[in-house]
Amino acid sequence: MTEKIYEYKDANDWYLGTCGEFNYLTCFGDDDHYEGARRRFYQLLERLSLEGLQVHVVKYGSAFSFLNFLVQIINEKFGRKLSVVQHKGAVLMMDGQQIVDIHLPQDGVVAETFFGQGDLPTAVGDTILIATQNEGKTAEFRQFFEKLGYKVENLNDYPDLPDVAETGVTFEENARLKAETIANLTGKMVLADDSGLKVDKLGGMPGVWSARFSGPDATDARNNAKLLHELAMVFEPKDRSAQFHCTLVVAAPNVDSLVVEADWDGYIATVPQGENGFGYDPLFLVGETGRTAAQLSLEEKNSQSHRAQALKKLLEVFPAWQEQNLKHF
Ligand code: IMP
Repeated sequence: MTEKIYEYKDANDWYLGTCGEFNYLTCFGDDDHYEGARRRFYQLLERLSLEGLQVHVVKYGSAFSFLNFLVQIINEKFGRKLSVVQHKGAVLMMDGQQIVDIHLPQDGVVAETFFGQGDLPTAVGDTILIATQNEGKTAEFRQFFEKLGYKVENLNDYPDLPDVAETGVTFEENARLKAETIANLTGKMVLADDSGLKVDKLGGMPGVWSARFSGPDATDARNNAKLLHELAMVFEPKDRSAQFHCTLVVAAPNVDSLVVEADWDGYIATVPQGENGFGYDPLFLVGETGRTAAQLSLEEKNSQSHRAQALKKLLEVFPAWQEQNLKHF
């Protein structure tokens, strides 16, 4: 049986097509037009993983007419439901509600015209909201995400959002609660962290209760005093081992969250030492160095802490997660 021959012809365009074993394009006319048609033909067929379209270009007028002609054959022969739409100077190939290919004119199109004024940042999903009011913490994360081209916001940009209660019993539960609740309320990509101190002799306490260890009126000084009290009868330095822990969760509406975590190993000192840092830093002896985290400069701490290590892991897995999950953003 011979294959059906398709034809499209108007004042500017004239195409003939049929189906065969492999993709094949021939052309009469000048090289510029052949090049444009060739690029669009192979780009589209590769994107759709189709084989067997044979087209001859007698006269090439516009990408829109050429792609429309290809789509007519593809829909009929391969049972697809593609359509071609013009949008602000670009030609979009649609598969139902999904854009599957974009063809731009030689000089490109102006981004603001294409996306609409004011809509540009969110239209391409380039904002990350850090779920904290702490500008210091935001600054650590900003360094990382701005390098990837993200605009970084924090909760101070959203004063009307409700507080998310940390009711989880694990670091991951609390970080997820914050990230996922705020992502669903704002529609944004959100990063939340949860961290704390785990002391081996205390079965991992104070853990997720680190900030509130000494009760409702907890302060850093009271928390440290309680910790020393709990370990008063543990004399061997090696038995006073502990880790600062950090879990980071990145969430966006309707996708699985990304979770990374890291520990910073050390020991609990018998007296507070050092003036820097915050929380349990004056009692946390870093590894085998004999110095507490409060005796490190901010740069030294930020290059090795639990948060720094978790952020480093995030740097490794974030690009792949983003590519897989944020296609529709
Ligand atoms: P959050 O994750 O910021 O809510 O921190 C919980 C608590 O863990 C803090 O209030 C501190 O008591 C403790 N903590 C977390 N990270 C550190 C740190 O880097 N140094 C000292 N204490 C920390």
